[in-house]
Amino acid sequence: MPVYTPRLDIPALYSRFDAPITQEDCGAFCSRFNPSGKPFCCDICHAVPVAYRQEWEYLQLYTDLWHEWCGDECASEPVDPREMRADTPGHLLLLACKGPQACQRQYRASSCRQFPFFPYVTADYRFIGLAYYWDFEPMCWVISHLEKVTSEYRQQFIAVYDDIFNIWPDEFESYAAMSEEMRDFFNRQRRRFPLLHRNGGFYTVSPGRGTLRHLSMEKTRQFGPYRT
Ligand code: SF4
Ligand code: SF4
Repeated sequence: MPVYTPRLDIPALYSRFDAPITQEDCGAFCSRFNPSGKPFCCDICHAVPVAYRQEWEYLQLYTDLWHEWCGDECASEPVDPREMRADTPGHLLLLACKGPQACQRQYRASSCRQFPFFPYVTADYRFIGLAYYWDFEPMCWVISHLEKVTSEYRQQFIAVYDDIFNIWPDEFESYAAMSEEMRDFFNRQRRRFPLLHRNGGFYTVSPGRGTLRHLSMEKTRQFGPYRT
């Protein structure tokens, strides 16, 4: 049965999801810890961006910043692209850009705008806020400084994904699955995980019971080289 994919207005999505994640240039803080000198999320050896297929149709028309990811872009760690492609849902495409020196802010993919967060969906199917890609705890400066995330960015994130989920149930399902994966990971680690709630507050989530506890900013955890 064909999967229903609604038509998104990509230029509108980009213009509504454009606020800087922090007031600071967070890439300047993390890139100093990456031997390549690039921000981790802009280094293809650490993160492969994805875009909706209809985003790719749009981007190809307006910029030569991107190409389809081949698997050989990371010279130190070429990978067999078949496995990653097999793990990528059909409505998404793996991309590679020309790198941070050539970045064109207006043509960043949705995955660039979203990073390091994804929409967190509870076990009872509510989109309640922003959680982070946990693999990046030791790399991403923002994850160690959640208090720096601007409220404008948070509001744009919530509004954009509210609209996407309203018309695209399968996309909601894929983030529900990712949220479940996150709960499993933190359950194994016996750790609560932070959540930037849609109400503007900060909480930690119990991965087992799903209960929220208010998070004081003095108690946010820092990772890797960002530990003070
Ligand atoms: S979002 Fe994280 S990984 Fe990306 S540039 Fe900012 S601090 Fe670095
Ligand atoms: S388009 Fe810009 S923000 Fe996105 S991965 Fe490339 S350099 Fe980073």
